[in-house]
This record gives sequence, structure tokens and C-alpha cells, in this order.
Amino acid sequence: MANTKSSELLGRAKELLPGGVNSPVRAFRAVLGDPIFIAEAGGAWLTDADGNKYVDYVGSWGPMILGHAHPHVVAAVQRAMARGASFGAPCPGEVDLAEAIRGAYPSMQMLRMTSSGTEAVMGALRAARGFTGRELVVKFEGCYHGGADYLLVKAGSGAATFGEPDSAGVPAGIAATTLVLPFNDEAAARALFAARGRDIAALIVEPVVGNMGCVPPEDGFLPLLRELTRDAGALLVLDEVMTGFRVAYGGAQALYGIEPDLTTLGKIVGGGLPVGVYGGSEPGLYERLEASGKLVEEILVSAAARARVDLTVQRAGSMLTPFFTQGPVRSWVDAARADRARFARFHRALLDHGMYWPPSQFEAGFVSLAHDAAALDATRRAVEQAMAGLS
Ligand code: PMP
Repeated sequence: MANTKSSELLGRAKELLPGGVNSPVRAFRAVLGDPIFIAEAGGAWLTDADGNKYVDYVGSWGPMILGHAHPHVVAAVQRAMARGASFGAPCPGEVDLAEAIRGAYPSMQMLRMTSSGTEAVMGALRAARGFTGRELVVKFEGCYHGGADYLLVKAGSGAATFGEPDSAGVPAGIAATTLVLPFNDEAAARALFAARGRDIAALIVEPVVGNMGCVPPEDGFLPLLRELTRDAGALLVLDEVMTGFRVAYGGAQALYGIEPDLTTLGKIVGGGLPVGVYGGSEPGLYERLEASGKLVEEILVSAAARARVDLTVQRAGSMLTPFFTQGPVRSWVDAARADRARFARFHRALLDHGMYWPPSQFEAGFVSLAHDAAALDATRRAVEQAMAGLS
């Protein structure tokens, strides 16, 4: 094949653009020969500047699911352009599009549209940090989520590591807010959440990784991520920039039956034009209460086990009671069997260690949305010391 025109264009481009391209992989550094300049495309075919034709498997990195220059897409874009390119004001089309997206992605109850996948991810993670009041974000080695500084981080080997900048120009302090895990490694994910769960705002993942080559999740991996994030009060962000409307109309979340807190989508919703969308279910306040309640339960149970004290903790979400008795408490008769003298000593010791529990064995304690990491740490210290004093 002749490529005189591509070579000429590359020569000119190299004077202007690093590597002659606007995105690193296009420079052909990992393969043989020089980049080919594509002049036009239709359906499954590309035509280069010299008139050579190729069957295309890049598809603009995924968005061209209908093929290039599909007549319906071209007609819709032409109609829209004839009405004016942008207004800096709301327009009817964005409402239609938002309704169509929500129809396909029921987890995206409220949406915000952006100009790129990168911005969609940045918006989603900012929302997650704002919502949880936490700073750390977890990503996976080999997953790409756009050009935001804190996501351009190198992965460590094996265990979770603090992110180190992948690119010059990313401040180390910013990269350090990102933790990196190996994909499909359940033990590493469990260990990280056990150690840092309460500091994690969000875990972001390509549910089927496209950016290290196609790497699907192993059975049970996505459900585990859902469980770990929910238990930690962190948000699960599915980055469906590649998988959205691709692996299924409803994306990987429909294919694998996972309900994320936030989803990001990219150019595929723009017919290939540069756009992005993020959205999610709104509050999730009861999920946070459940996570905090569960943690208080675990603190009580493990402290009692260590002190060899008979204890049954009963809990519904954020209300719970530690009964100083064995076995389930199903009725008043069971409740009345609890050791009230022991409860009284426990209660006094909790007060002495700075924790105010209801002053009766026959009351429930209540966890609030204000019980943050500091409050729960104080809870752990008080319970452990009070429980140790009972044995
Ligand atoms: N997330 C994923 C999974 C991606 O593959 C990409 C880009 N291919 C992005 C985010 C960033 O999207 P954009 O290039 O539109 O900023």
C-alpha cells in the first residue's frame, strides 16, 4: 500500500504535535511503522489519506457501535447543527437524551452531562467525596478513567499501594489520594477495605476492563466490590465509558446484575461526538446507617469474644442492643434472661471511657449519620476497654 500522503502529513504534524498525534497510543510506538492518517470512514471501513481501505476494529475506541457515519446519526447531527451548535442554555434535546439514558440505566436516577468521559469521572468522584466527606479513591491497576491528575497513577505490585504519579506534572500529594488494587484479586480488595474502609469515598472500576486489553471480571468479583463498598459506606462507581451500551444496552451493570451508586458514560451516548454523562441514585443515607450500625455490632461482638463474655447483639440497621446473654432474643422472656448487673457495669465503664449508651439493658442504641470515623474509633476504644473490664 502506498502511504505517501500519510508520511507527508506525519512530517507536518510532528512539527506541531508531540509524536505527531493528539493521544499517545495513536503514535504507533508499540507497533511497527508509522501512524496512518484517516481521511474518512463509512460503516465498518476506514479510508486513509492515500485512498487505502481498512476494515476497522478501533471504532473510535468503542463509541461507533453503529459503524461510521451511520445515516441516522449524520442526519440527526445535521438537523441539530442547522438549529445552532450550542446556546449556553437548556435545550429540549438534553431532556430527551436524559430520559433515554435513565430508561436504559435505572441506577442513574439523576444525571449530569459533560463534554468528555474524563469530566464525567471527575464529577462522579467529586460527588462521592462530597457525599461521604472522605478523600480516598480506590482504582484498579490497568484501569483507565481519563486524564484527571489523581487517576493517572501507577499501580503497585501485589498488595494495595498508595498511588504514585504515572506522569510528570502530577503532584505526589494528589496521586496519594488514590489507592491502587490488582483487578480480580478478592483477597487484596478485602484486605484494603478492612484496613482503610472508613476513609474510602469511592471505588471506581471498569466493570469489564478495556484499557489493559479486554479483561472480564471473574465470577463474584463485582458482587464482592458491591458488598465491600456498601459495608464501608463508600460509593461504587462503575465507569461504563467503554462498556455502556456496548456489552448490553444497559451496560455491564445489566449484564452482571450489579447496582452501582454512580455510573459514567462516554461518547457512545453522543453518537461518537465527545460527550460524557454521570449519574446515580440519590442519597443512600440508609446504606450509610446500615454500614455504621454493622460496624458497631462488629465492635461489640469481637470485644465480647476477646473478653470471653456471653453477648448477643441484635440489630436492625442503625438500632441495636447488646444483650448479655447467649442465643437469640426473640421475646420478653428471652430478654429478661440477660445479665442486668453485667450490663450495669458495662454501662458505667462505657461512660468512664467517653461513650454514652442508653442506661438500661432493655433499650436500643441508635447510630446517626453524624457517627463518622472519629466517633466510631472512639466507640471501638470505649467498648474494648469496657468489655475487657468485665472478664
Ligand atoms: N473511562 C474509560 C473507561 C475510558 O476508556 C476513557 C477513554 N477511553 C475515559 C474514561 C475518558 O474518556 P474521554 O476520553 O472521553 O475523556
